[in-house]
Amino acid sequence: VSSSLSKEEIYRLRKKHVANACILFYDPDPLQIVRAQGQYMYDEENNEYLDCINNVCHVGHCHPEVVAAAARQMAILNTNSRYLSHLNSTYSEQLTSLFPDPLDTVFFVNSGSEATELSLELCRVWNDATDFICVDSGYHGHTRSAITVSNYKFGHPRGIGKPDFIQMMELPDTYRGRYRDLETAGEKYGAEAETLVENIMSRGAKVAGFIGESAISCGGQIILPQNYLKTIYRTVRGAGGLCIADEVQVGFGRCGTGMWVFETQGVIPDIVTIGKPMGNGHPIAGVVTTRRIAEKYRLNRPEYFNTYGGNPVSMAVGLAVLDVIKKEKLVQHARDTGALFLQELKLLQQRHDCIGDVRGIGLFLGIEFVKCRDSKEPDEDTAVSVKKSMYKNKIIVSTEGRYNNIVKIKPPMKFDEANVAHFIKHFDRAIFELKC
Ligand code: PMP
Repeated sequence: VSSSLSKEEIYRLRKKHVANACILFYDPDPLQIVRAQGQYMYDEENNEYLDCINNVCHVGHCHPEVVAAAARQMAILNTNSRYLSHLNSTYSEQLTSLFPDPLDTVFFVNSGSEATELSLELCRVWNDATDFICVDSGYHGHTRSAITVSNYKFGHPRGIGKPDFIQMMELPDTYRGRYRDLETAGEKYGAEAETLVENIMSRGAKVAGFIGESAISCGGQIILPQNYLKTIYRTVRGAGGLCIADEVQVGFGRCGTGMWVFETQGVIPDIVTIGKPMGNGHPIAGVVTTRRIAEKYRLNRPEYFNTYGGNPVSMAVGLAVLDVIKKEKLVQHARDTGALFLQELKLLQQRHDCIGDVRGIGLFLGIEFVKCRDSKEPDEDTAVSVKKSMYKNKIIVSTEGRYNNIVKIKPPMKFDEANVAHFIKHFDRAIFELKC
């Protein structure tokens, strides 16, 4: 929708009427995006920006097939999911067929936070339990229960603090953390689950479950070391709890290893939460679980009703997204482009001492800035300056991690070799100009 309002007026109205807790990128010089296509976004003067962070617009901003599916269905029918709909049935079948057995049942919701809420409740019901194990720096959503398992939020200086019914695993960071040997770190970090289960028992409580991202995003683009989830799952299941894999950011092939990143850990979760890329920008999310877990919920709770969850328009969008991923071979594309990107970033690391680490799988990458490679002292200033410099060159990246010293990359999956070259050229120049 075009607007006759000036950018200044749009900014003024936003500041006046939208809650200030909702922040803008690049404030006080925010970006107004008026349209987007593929991996590119355009401002009101038609300047083109390379989008390196929007993992929601997974198959590309405004993909014509997804747009057409939504528009077509919007003109035919949209209603709640209490009526039979061929779209709902077909999408449920297609989606669950992408998961290993026994994950054959889905609840449709509208956001990652809702998916987290429901997944936690499924665990509580399963074992009539209250206590959860989560991971340091994790993020699973903005609602109250989701915040209780999200150290990224509860641990913030203005956060609610860690509740008593939550135990937190150390971040399995093989660059900066306690264990760095890739062969053994997973088991060593994972072993902490035993102590945390004991802590829960000694409170006289029961283990409801474990929740963890299959690759940790807000925590700093952390790739889980091998055997990490296997070790945790064994312990948590031994104590009667369920295991939730949060694939809200990384699912649907972003990491190029297959559709789901938990598969790289050789585990099958009891519950998987999915969202963001699922609707390519349309609000749709889900909780995929087993028939037995869903049945236990049905027998012990009232009907699960969610006004918009599973509506025909969302289902049409979901189907179109799956279709595009398959037709355009986006998982293989993410694997190949991601491998090239990582290789190029490693070359940059050789040229610039301020890059302490580069890591990633597929199109999920992180570049960690340090003041000194030996001490690994985090360098937030350089990371933020590089981000600003990239912005001046119309390349959008963001910074993350406990010390905000990690530049994170998770672009639409259309991101290609030419985009990698363009990114590397400007990233190199930005660091060079900072003389670090
Ligand atoms: N889980 C993860 C891993 C996320 O990154 C997010 C959103 N950043 C959520 C859950 C919550 O999703 P939403 O914002 O759609 O509620």
